[in-house]
Amino acid sequence: MVMSMSEELIDPGLPVVVTSPALQELNEQVVAILENMSDAFFALDRQWRLVYMNRVAEQIFGGRRENFLGKNLWEIFPEAVDSVFYREYHRALAEDTTVEFEAFGPGLQKWLGVRAYPSREGLSVFFRDVTGRRMTDMMRRYMEALIAASNDAIIGKTLDGRVICWNKGAEKLYGFTAEEMLGESVSIILPPDRKHEMEEIIQRICRGEYIERYETLRTRKDGTLVDVSLAASPITDEGGSLIGVAVIAHDITERKRIEQERREKEQRKDDFIGMASHELKTPITSVKAMTQLLQLRLAKEGNAEAVRCLERMDKQIDRLNRLVTDLLDVTKIQEGRLELIREIFNFDEWLKNLIEDLQQTTTHKINCSGKVGRGIVADRDRIGQVVTNLITNAIKYSPQADTIDVRVMADQNGVIVSVQDYGIGISPASQEMIFKRFFRAVRDGAVPGLGMGLFIAAEIVKLHGGNIRVESAEGKGSIFSFSIPSPTLDVAP
Ligand code: ADP
Repeated sequence: MVMSMSEELIDPGLPVVVTSPALQELNEQVVAILENMSDAFFALDRQWRLVYMNRVAEQIFGGRRENFLGKNLWEIFPEAVDSVFYREYHRALAEDTTVEFEAFGPGLQKWLGVRAYPSREGLSVFFRDVTGRRMTDMMRRYMEALIAASNDAIIGKTLDGRVICWNKGAEKLYGFTAEEMLGESVSIILPPDRKHEMEEIIQRICRGEYIERYETLRTRKDGTLVDVSLAASPITDEGGSLIGVAVIAHDITERKRIEQERREKEQRKDDFIGMASHELKTPITSVKAMTQLLQLRLAKEGNAEAVRCLERMDKQIDRLNRLVTDLLDVTKIQEGRLELIREIFNFDEWLKNLIEDLQQTTTHKINCSGKVGRGIVADRDRIGQVVTNLITNAIKYSPQADTIDVRVMADQNGVIVSVQDYGIGISPASQEMIFKRFFRAVRDGAVPGLGMGLFIAAEIVKLHGGNIRVESAEGKGSIFSFSIPSPTLDVAP
């Protein structure tokens, strides 16, 4: 422990009470020094009573000296009895020897660096609060233990890329030992096409950025590449100046492998869906054609019952056809092949016809209000697909209600259509998911569907540059609305 100059001036066996005038003056000088020194000081008599303490000691004890002087040290700090302090002070007096130690003051909750001198009168004790340094030391030891124990590679490098720290994790990940790497340029582990990354990372750190999850490749000692995720942060000196960079590298080979496997699986599934729906399309088309042919023949023969059967069959074929068309659309979207065929059309008339057709298929009353009053430019069939999906959903998911309200609004930016039902509604968690592929909020099979309609609708609206959204309350119903931007066309064609 480094002591201040003052300790050399003080006789360890300091007689605190002196009587002759010369000694009185000396005593005053000594007290002045004790009061002004940066270390704490107190003196004890042989009965462990405090006979003097300076200002710094007051600060560390956390109280005014009037409250302590004359009192027994072990009564002031009963928790220190049997502590290092207790044992060392007793040893100093018993063996008439100076003692020096650092210990945690139980009553003070501080680390103290202590030097105590015995004398005939008692014990003179110098001490200082070393909590800050102890904590820093402790932190450093913790950090060293953590770095050594980490499975991740932890690397410290100077601003010009020289390695100053290379832990066991780095040895395991890259195959180079600390001995091989310390002092070397970290660029050894950078693949030739990524040499620029070191400079980039250092520049970003210099700009005060922290780097998290920088996914890249590094080269091992054996020349193989390893996928890593890097986090980098600055190392500064006491003055806050940047002196290096600390990098933690996590091996993400396994994660990448799982991701790749998942992607391949998804791809195989998508390919299969694409192929299967494509294969289904042709037989469905020919079955439909033959059904219609048979219908005509049997109608001519006057077999009404068989005709009714075939009509029902035809409807089921249409359903099958819609499912397969949806599957094909989903595949097109996945492959980025869904294209729009834009044309100008009279929106109001077109919507009226569409709703009339849908009205034939349901007992719900579909009300329509609002007008566009002009032509719009959009893919008519695809927008028809969106509106049909929203209205058929509104019907499907409101079995207890009997009304659907369709509202149309237009401004100079385009058209907004909303479809409101008074049905089962959608929970907030499901609202976030319903535009995703194959998502269904109700999966009990009570309502048929495959969770493709809204995914396709959202994609069609997106391709038009518009937005689709839902507002819903469970048990009250839902409002789906979408917008289609379109230039103003004054004359409705
Ligand atoms: P599908 O109806 O074939 O399942 P959609 O993609 O059209 O597929 O809809 C996805 C899911 O969103 C539905 O399964 C349903 O849970 C929910 N949903 C859609 N529209 C409504 C609605 N109007 N009311 C309640 N739930 C709805």
